[in-house]
Amino acid sequence: MDSPIKRRYLAVIILLLLATIINATLSYRHSRDYHETRFLMDTEVYIEAHGPGARKAVKEALAAMEDLSQRLDSYSATSEIAAINDAAGIKAVHVSQDTFVVIKKALEIARLTGGAFDPTCGPLVNLWGIGPEGNHKPVPSPEEIKKAVQLVNYQRVFLNEEVQTVFLPEKGMRLDLGAIAKGYAVSKAVVILHNHNIQSALVAAGGNIYALGTRPGGGGWRIGIRDPFHPDTEAGYLELVNQAIDTSGDYERYYEEQGLKYNHIFDPRSGYPVTFTASSTVITPDPVAADALATALFVLGAGEGFPLLAKVPDTEGLIITTNGDVLCTPGLQDKFIKNGAPPQQTTGWQTKKLVIEVNGREVQSLVLTGNEKQLHLRVPLKKGEAIVEIDGGRARVLPLPRDICPDGICSRTGWISLPGQSIICLPNRLVVRIIS
Ligand code: AMP
Ligand code: MG
Repeated sequence: MDSPIKRRYLAVIILLLLATIINATLSYRHSRDYHETRFLMDTEVYIEAHGPGARKAVKEALAAMEDLSQRLDSYSATSEIAAINDAAGIKAVHVSQDTFVVIKKALEIARLTGGAFDPTCGPLVNLWGIGPEGNHKPVPSPEEIKKAVQLVNYQRVFLNEEVQTVFLPEKGMRLDLGAIAKGYAVSKAVVILHNHNIQSALVAAGGNIYALGTRPGGGGWRIGIRDPFHPDTEAGYLELVNQAIDTSGDYERYYEEQGLKYNHIFDPRSGYPVTFTASSTVITPDPVAADALATALFVLGAGEGFPLLAKVPDTEGLIITTNGDVLCTPGLQDKFIKNGAPPQQTTGWQTKKLVIEVNGREVQSLVLTGNEKQLHLRVPLKKGEAIVEIDGGRARVLPLPRDICPDGICSRTGWISLPGQSIICLPNRLVVRIIS
């Protein structure tokens, strides 16, 4: 027979049982969904993972990334990269397996990109001083730049696989893995998540992102691409599954002097910061390649960069030029969603041609590749000459000298970059136009 005391006992036991079940469910769910952010490699590193053991997997992945960041940071006096740089011209330095692998991979990508990505660009980074603290030195002189460029050469890095050493043969040479180290750290994190059997995760080290599997609710991970002109907003987004994506942007580190913007990505051939790319994005399965190729694409521009990406399997690219043109490889045409608007609004790289006419007669024409560097075309006029400057797929007419052309005037003093645009200068009827 039920006594009131017995019933009260029963109620208490049921309540305790319920509390235990709720608690267990909550902690189970807690261990299934976990995310954490840390500040590493001069950027925010974020990992979220879903599935049993998510917490342990994320913690382990972050620890590995932290360890790597200490070994690969050329700004830290105690890193392995600093040891290699300090021994330049003196001796080979033994390094850990990870450091050796990432340098080897960097040299492979340097070869693939013809040196547009060059991990020996340290002397340029130092000279221009566009470092992580945002401080910078005055714009260097052409002589200083020339001297630094002579020290940049990925072909002069000597690796000894057997004893795992790295040697820079000339004093002043410096490795800088700033354009590949984050990608390598992301790839390490992904391996660890896989080892923990995580099927759904997102790893982001600044712009270096890997989308592992699908989102918990299904479907690809939505990855926004920043608008380089308003970095707090997105230019568009993509949905990715088991792909890496990386964006190099001129908004990351830069300074302005006399109206010119000097950003942190250099053309190793000229020694100057690249001026025609605002951001470059690469999508490919390997995070290391995504990082290094995004930097190379920034340097090469669409004209040279897109044909190069076409040779790398399963790889796409997107460029936003400093003129605001959004260009992408054909495979991204339907996948890049511009600011909520329907896709298909971007264009692949169009072949553009620059045509110059004087007095109604074509005097010169030239296919624009997007990779021209301050090219000056001299155009003979009835009296004297005009100079047409071409830089990164765009053109302008330099001010006509007053002594040659006393009442010379042009319809536009700035750049033209799109098919259909033109500059007309009078009285010589000099016409500079871009056609597709
Ligand atoms: P990212 O943001 O991945 O494009 O990396 C930019 C960083 O890579 C810079 O801050 C420099 O440390 C370094 N860097 C700049 N230009 C180059 C280049 N052409 N090749 C390789 N590394 C570069
Ligand atoms: Mg990079």
